[in-house]
Amino acid sequence: MENTDKMTSTNVVPGEFKSAVEGKCPRCRTGNMFAAPLFSFKSKKMYHNCPHCGLKFEKEPGYFYVAMYVSYVFVVAELVASCVGTYIITGNLESPWLYLIVSIAVAVLLAPFNYRYSRVVLMYWMTPQFKFRPDLYVADKK
Ligand SMILES: [Zn+2]
Repeated sequence: MENTDKMTSTNVVPGEFKSAVEGKCPRCRTGNMFAAPLFSFKSKKMYHNCPHCGLKFEKEPGYFYVAMYVSYVFVVAELVASCVGTYIITGNLESPWLYLIVSIAVAVLLAPFNYRYSRVVLMYWMTPQFKFRPDLYVADKK
């Protein structure tokens, strides 16, 4: 399956994980999926189609509802991590408010990350139809 990367010997194709982290289109790994940078609060806009290869990101109506479950897993992991981190740093066992405030702050701060990466994870690793096609990859395009 990964051998398809070797077909384009002239370009060095970025790895699947790197492309996912950068929010690139899962099919061409060239076009961006989102209008704003991945951690930005500015714009939640996601392109309907890949600006490079034209892949329709929402492949069927309600497709991104599945991303909510991915996002849910992210949030639970972040809440557990923030509470454990708070305990390790402060050693607090008296006040539940500290944990509540920290976990809400973490959830709000990471909301753009959750929103975008839940869709990235969904498209890269949970949608077999979105396969990388090395022939669509263009190395010099930003
Ligand atoms: Zn594309």
